[in-house]
Amino acid sequence: MRRTLIVPCVIALSLCCLAVQDATGPSIRLAVDLTDAPRNIFHATVTLAATAGEMTFVYPKWIPGNHRPSGPIANVTGLHFRAWDQELAWHRDPLERYSFHVTVPPGVKEVEAKFDLLSTDSAGGGGLAASSNLLDLNWNQVILYPDKAASDAVEVAASVRLPAGWKFGTALTTARASGEEVAFNPVSLTTLVDSPLIAGEYYRQIELVPAGEIPAHVIDMVADSAADLEMTPEDTTAYRKLVAEADALFGAHHYTQYHFLYTLSDAVGHHGLEHHQSSDNSTGARTLLDPKKHFLDAALLPHEFVHSWNGKYRRPAGLVTRNYQEPMIGDLLWVYEGMTEYWGNVLTARSGLWTEEQYREALAATAAALDTTAGRTWRPLEDTAVSVQILRMLGPQWESWRRGLDYYPEGELIWLEVDTIIRKQTNNRRSLDDFSRHFHGGESGPPEVVPYTFDDLVRELNAVAPHDWAALLKERVEATSQHAPLGGITGGGWRLVYTDKPNAFLGAIAEEAKITEARYSLGFILDHDGNFIDVVPGSPAYRAGLGPGMKLVAVNGRKWSSDVLKDAIKSAQQSHQPIEVIAETADIFKTYSIPYDGGLKSPHLERVEGQPDLLGDIIRAKTGTARQP
Ligand SMILES: [Zn+2]
Repeated sequence: MRRTLIVPCVIALSLCCLAVQDATGPSIRLAVDLTDAPRNIFHATVTLAATAGEMTFVYPKWIPGNHRPSGPIANVTGLHFRAWDQELAWHRDPLERYSFHVTVPPGVKEVEAKFDLLSTDSAGGGGLAASSNLLDLNWNQVILYPDKAASDAVEVAASVRLPAGWKFGTALTTARASGEEVAFNPVSLTTLVDSPLIAGEYYRQIELVPAGEIPAHVIDMVADSAADLEMTPEDTTAYRKLVAEADALFGAHHYTQYHFLYTLSDAVGHHGLEHHQSSDNSTGARTLLDPKKHFLDAALLPHEFVHSWNGKYRRPAGLVTRNYQEPMIGDLLWVYEGMTEYWGNVLTARSGLWTEEQYREALAATAAALDTTAGRTWRPLEDTAVSVQILRMLGPQWESWRRGLDYYPEGELIWLEVDTIIRKQTNNRRSLDDFSRHFHGGESGPPEVVPYTFDDLVRELNAVAPHDWAALLKERVEATSQHAPLGGITGGGWRLVYTDKPNAFLGAIAEEAKITEARYSLGFILDHDGNFIDVVPGSPAYRAGLGPGMKLVAVNGRKWSSDVLKDAIKSAQQSHQPIEVIAETADIFKTYSIPYDGGLKSPHLERVEGQPDLLGDIIRAKTGTARQP
């Protein structure tokens, strides 16, 4: 999953093998009529094996990649259970609201469940799943399965009926297709839920490896207009290089084909959701064409691709569950998401989707946000990971004090630090690449899940370069601290500095989200209308009494605007006089005096002369020009 980038408050067992097995248990037929997708209703018909007596059927609750009970149960409507065309009574379990109890009459062998899914929660990330011209189908949202069944053991034969003329992309293989009816080869419930489908009137597929090469890698794209699918030749080359760079990094793959499913639309929810053999990516309509949007979202596909190795194949033991009703434990999400954020951003640079300067500006923005997050003085990083269920969908108000999903960006800083320690200790002969080649690579083959614990991680790191990794990592994730772990930046030959020159990444976010960023000077972020989105505890604005819920009205006697505010900050640097602001709360206007004369401040990385540029080595491409299909 990808964190949101819009508000930059920090912005986005013992080892054993669990193969994704062939299903041997109950079988399900699932037919999904998607012809009403343009008004966001998916019609599902689920045929389930049944025996007489009370049976319990469940709707998937804990969704992989969401790491939380995000199955959109409230959007299940028009539910009926039938056998032999007779209506069967059902009732919802009063404690477990994802469970439905049905009394099955004697002699009945199959029960048919029909319901409509209101597709208003795309991939668990919020926002519509469909528009007039496209749709994103996550199978967990349109199925019921027998209570207590293991998802590996349930076989599902799924089919869809698409709106007329729409084309589709998915990692599922087609058994037969006629007109708009498509039937897929039966797979386990695990594989089905792991294989979303996108479809649309405007569809394009781009091959990323030469035809016939195994495994195939393709981008399947849908958009609301043909123009939005016009990927530049430079991007096509970069995505081909992404595949080559991931191959060079991990040395093996755990899929038989890979589909980047890519939706480009302003009408549906935006997200990235990882799977073994595909990823479900959704961004704004003009992402491929607008340089600013491109900069902000360039790391999305690399991030979700890395998850095929880190998160799907190698998975923290607490996130390996038997089915979708078992709760998940997110204590190692700083590895699952944090290392994915690290490798995703590094591969974005290695593949050429970002320039080296763009990578550094994004990293500076991440480091600065974490370094000024006040909540780090009370809340350890690990607590943000185990709290994913309660933190994921919150608004940004007081996020600096509460902390958000910091295991993503701070995980990136931690793995950069680990990488630079390995490199320094081995005279740059070994690196985190060597760790990942062993930990995430191994033998190529079909999807498989290999769980790990903290101790497994430490043991594998020690095999690459001996160090007290357990102590370092425990300090990083279990302790509170005043400052972010910036050792990877300094160890990489750079330092975090603040200047009056705008940070390019933060500038793009500010323009895109229409916000005003004064976080590193006065200590706040404003929305387009002047509402305080967040105020950093301890900052000049905080000490002056300002906070979210207030609205900025005037600065030094002038009506507020972004430029008026910047001018006031610059002038206070010369005059050393406090900045006077008027803020409104519930029709009450008050004046606040902010003593601050430090000028405009924006984060950047500055080279430390005389130190080796390990950061430069880390983001340098490992392969030559990508092979052309
Ligand atoms: Zn992720």
